[in-house]
Amino acid sequence: MQTISTQLLVLGGGPGGYAAAFLAADRGFQVTLVDASGKFGGTCLQVGCIPSKALLHVAKLIGEAKDAPHFGVTFGPPKIDLKGVRGHWQKVTETLTKSLAKLAEARKIRFIHGKGKFLDAHTVVVDDGTQITFEHAIIATGSIPAIPGPFQINSKRVMDSTAALALEEIPPRLLVIGGGYIGLEMGTIYAALGSKVTVVEAGDGLIPLADRDLVAPLHKRLESLFEKILLNHKVAKLEEVGKNIRASLEDPSGKSIIENFDRVLIAVGRRPATRDLGLEKAGITLDDKGFIPVNDQRRTTVAHIFAVGDSAGEPQLAHKASFEGKVAVEALSGEPVAYDVAGVPAVIFTDPEIAWCGLTEIDAQKQGIEVKKLKMPWAGSGRALTRGRTEGLTKLLVDPKTERILGVGICGIDAGEMIGEAMLALEMGATARDLALTMHAHPTLSETLMEAAEQMYGLAVHSPPPRKA
Ligand code: NAD
Repeated sequence: MQTISTQLLVLGGGPGGYAAAFLAADRGFQVTLVDASGKFGGTCLQVGCIPSKALLHVAKLIGEAKDAPHFGVTFGPPKIDLKGVRGHWQKVTETLTKSLAKLAEARKIRFIHGKGKFLDAHTVVVDDGTQITFEHAIIATGSIPAIPGPFQINSKRVMDSTAALALEEIPPRLLVIGGGYIGLEMGTIYAALGSKVTVVEAGDGLIPLADRDLVAPLHKRLESLFEKILLNHKVAKLEEVGKNIRASLEDPSGKSIIENFDRVLIAVGRRPATRDLGLEKAGITLDDKGFIPVNDQRRTTVAHIFAVGDSAGEPQLAHKASFEGKVAVEALSGEPVAYDVAGVPAVIFTDPEIAWCGLTEIDAQKQGIEVKKLKMPWAGSGRALTRGRTEGLTKLLVDPKTERILGVGICGIDAGEMIGEAMLALEMGATARDLALTMHAHPTLSETLMEAAEQMYGLAVHSPPPRKA
């Protein structure tokens, strides 16, 4: 049995773990990183954000070719080489994985392949028996798909997001359970490749966290891409019958509907990967959702152990994990730092995309916050017209007294690229006037942010004239 001692132990090599490990090494810490997959990048790089975005790019190509007659160009129907499509994301993932390994090597980070478990507050044992004693630790073990009891059937036709990315086949009929991030992104990919996709969502709208006016244009477009979108429906039971999965659905009145599918994707959320880490031996107690409680420096209740990313609370987003990883290392270095952000950008990479940051209308209503809503429909954007995609909208929520921007929501192509400017505005405490006085290049979609802000002052020339008092 090998025994190692290290100054900083990082458990998990995803966007939270590797960002923390790299930054700590740059600050002179001697770092050991343990990861169960044996690779850097975590879920995001290996079986999440990056593969799905590579596949969504393929879906976008197919969608644009389909829309091309609108611009006077006609392509034939696409021929799908599934091996080539899979190869695309695998190559991207491989390239990034290798590059992270090189960056870690250059920083002299010791990498151990295995699953770590706490023995006490200063010792972790890896499953090959290696014992690691540490001065400080950062837990960044991420999350895993939540598969509720009724969906736990032993069939390769019932997939989580990882199995869906493997793209073993293009099932003629795919049932997607859950109309959130994964359900809609993966549903878009499969529908573009030729599956007839049915989405079953338990709530009364897709993407429950997002404002309804942002979801409406996406919902409309998905209605033509997908076979069916069933809201307020439940899936009571899944059974494998021959080559089919028989799904017992329940409509809003409680009536049972039986439908057969070739495959099913379960996308009803992810749970923190914290259950079998031996945290109780380190003196850490999980909250009732399984997250590791942390303070604003991402310290756990045991001061020399930190936790970041999906294991330490919502939202479960890669960029939040990396940000927290950096905060934890700065705190470890003795800096007066805190995780104190004006917002966390959220992007759903569907077509159109939905992106938002800061306050949403849903939250404003719940919290009784008075806001002025400035909305710029993309029908007034020259750039949106040139791309044949005018269904989008850009929305600012502004404090009516201070004129400060409190939240931004965008639905439209490339919304995910535009949300960066909105985040900067939030972090800088910008007012609508600041945004209105920032010259934006013409013709770009980003002008819609400026035009929305201009509405506050009656300066928006591409919007209908302001109502006279
Ligand atoms: P999600 O929380 O985004 O969506 C789950 C959906 O399933 C919700 O709409 C919920 O109402 C619905 N649901 C729950 N139980 C159900 C049931 N029994 N039947 C039908 N519907 C049900 O979760 P997800 O899509 O699994 O994604 C997990 C997490 O992964 C997300 O929260 C997100 O943080 C992350 N993620 C992010 C991105 C991105 O940033 N673009 C992409 C993929 C995943």
